[in-house]
This record gives sequence, C-alpha cells and structure tokens, in this order.
Amino acid sequence: MFNFQIIKKSKKSLARIGKIKTPHGEIITPAFLPVATLGVIKGGLTFNEFLSTGVQAQITNSFHFLDLDYIDVIFKAGGLHKFFNFSKPIFTDSGGFQIFSLGRGNEFGLGKIASIFPEEQKKKSKNQLKSLQKRNNLIKKISEEGVWFLSPRNGRLIDLTPEKAFDVQNKLGADFIYVLDVCGTPLDDYFLTQKELEISHQWFNRFIAQYKKIKNIENKQQIFGIIQGGLFDDLRLKSAEFVNNLDVFGIAIGGALGKNKKDMFKILKVINKKIDFNRPHHLLGIGSLSDLENLIKQGIDLFDCVLPTRMARHGMALIKRGFIDIVRKKYQKKFEPIDKDCDCFTCKNYNLAQIYFLFKAKELLAGHLLTIHNLYFFEKVLQNIRNKILSNKI
Ligand SMILES: [Zn+2]
Repeated sequence: MFNFQIIKKSKKSLARIGKIKTPHGEIITPAFLPVATLGVIKGGLTFNEFLSTGVQAQITNSFHFLDLDYIDVIFKAGGLHKFFNFSKPIFTDSGGFQIFSLGRGNEFGLGKIASIFPEEQKKKSKNQLKSLQKRNNLIKKISEEGVWFLSPRNGRLIDLTPEKAFDVQNKLGADFIYVLDVCGTPLDDYFLTQKELEISHQWFNRFIAQYKKIKNIENKQQIFGIIQGGLFDDLRLKSAEFVNNLDVFGIAIGGALGKNKKDMFKILKVINKKIDFNRPHHLLGIGSLSDLENLIKQGIDLFDCVLPTRMARHGMALIKRGFIDIVRKKYQKKFEPIDKDCDCFTCKNYNLAQIYFLFKAKELLAGHLLTIHNLYFFEKVLQNIRNKILSNKI
C-alpha cells in the first residue's frame, strides 16, 4: 500500500524526483505540505478548492485536537479524512514542535509566530520579539516518561507520552505519523541538546513499539522518524545513524536548525553524510520560497510551512520576485490580476483592485482568494523545480 520510489536523480546535486504511494493517492516529490492546523487550510478552502491549487497533501497538528479534547470525536467519525471530507494524503505531527513552541520557544520568543532563526528574526522585527519574550514557558515538566504542559487555550494540564502521541495519531488516522521528539531551541547548549536527543531516541523506540502492537497497521499508517541533534555535528550524525536503523518509512529533520540559514545548510550537509537516501526526507517546518531550490539540492523531498497561507491572510500575494502587499494604496485602481501568467482561480476571476477592496472591507473572501493564489503559486514553483530536475537542469 505504501511505497517510496525514486524516479530520477540529479547528476549535479542530491535533488531527486520521487513518488510516494499512499492509500489516499500518490505524492510526487519534492512536495509541499501546507499546514492545516485544525484539519483544514486556514483561509476557508473547500476540498475542491484545495484540489484546484494542485497541492498534493497536507499536514495537520495532532496537538490541537488533543488540546480541544477532540480525538475521540474524530475517531468516531472515522478519522481526519472522513471528518474533514479530505481524500488526499494527510500527515500529522506528534506534538514535539509544541514542546518547543510552548516551552523555551515561547519563553524566548522563538515560537511559531516568530522566525525559528533567532538572528534573522531580530533583523526583521525587534518589537515582535520583545512582546513574545514576555510570554511564559507553558511546559511544566519534561522527563524520560513524557511531557506535561498547560493548555494554551484554557490552562488545563495535559500530558503527552510517546505511547499517547502514537495513540492520538492512530485515532486521527493520517497516512503519515511522526514520532514524539523533544524539539530543542537554537539557544540550547551541547549538554542540553544531548539530553534532548537521548530522551527523543528512547521515545522513538517506545512510539514504534506501540505502533507494532496493531495488526495490519502498515497498510494504513506509516511513520516518520526525526533526526535531532541541534547545531552539533557529532549529535546530528549520531541521531541520523539512530533514525536510519529504525523501522520507519521516512526521515524527518527536526530540532533546532541553527541561528540562521547558513547554520541550517551546514546541518543538512552534516546529516547527508549518514542519512538513508532510499527514504523520503522531510525538513520540518521550513519552506520559504526562496530556499526551496537549494534545500531540494540537499536531498529534501518534503516541506511544510505556514508561510504561504499565513501571508495570504495578511494580504501578501506571492509573485515571481517575492511578494506584494495587496493592501497598499497603489493597488486600489489596478484592474489586472496578481500575476497575469498565473492560472489559479483567483487570477482568472479577480483583479488587484477587487482584492484590495475586499481586504479594506475586511471581507472573508479577501484572505480566501489570496490563499488559493499563494498555494497555487507555491505549487507551480515546485513544479518548475521538478521539471528542472527531470530535464537535468538541477
Ligand atoms: Zn494566481
């Protein structure tokens, strides 16, 4: 039922074209997984609208369903696919990222809202960082047993163990599930990163042991392991070796990826000395348009990122040279599409002046239209990169 096949390898880099088979159809890689935090893409896309963007799959945060106490409801409905009328492949993360974003990430302003690269964030928005620094660490305890944290929604105490992270994701029923890890921050020192790695590795074994208890599960769900190790070469190599030896379908690269993008590429180069290239590689939480090609050249097959949809809701439309801020006065009387070469529903039916007006009027349609465009545009960029790999240009 599940399978990963490499169709074409670049001769000049580690880029490749792959095909992931799932019970909900195929994914041609490199592929983008937009973040559907609560099961649907923010911006109000129906399944048909999602299909119209060409995007092949999505990733959902299992943590939020746990926080909302909704695991059993979705299980009863027959899983995420049925509950949300979504028949394409779904990935769910384990909650490990929330250990980072609610814990030290939140405390130091490195959470989901801020960039995960602290140096680059500082350059961008000192004020945003300052306001985030006032927030608290919601993690109450992390031990070898599991993690205890306060719900960001209502403050109730929630526990998460590897067994529970598996059970939750099993009930949600996504095609691909992720082991529970302790996701560190770029501020963690060697000692702390090593400790996080050791706990994560133990959790991976416990998660997989739980998975193996369920008969025929391999036809319904497959696991991604996660390489940890922060900024430290020897820890990254150790973790890559450990994850290679796990009985998992895919390999994700997680944890802190450095203080800036240069660090991130250095980490990838180190990991690439050991990582198993016969399995799909997912770089967790990273996927800005300008980095895609270089990351793909480092062998990354899957990306997930909130950027295209978040930007859309804030009036930013992706274009070839970056993005435009649609709520600027200069678009008030521009009766042309965002991009005249774009074939998305939005560009075929609406112009800048209309979308400008909708944003100013705070109409829901505004963010909705830009979400469609941004996802379509993102997918087109990936399609071009895939074509370049196929025609030996990468
Ligand atoms: Zn468009």
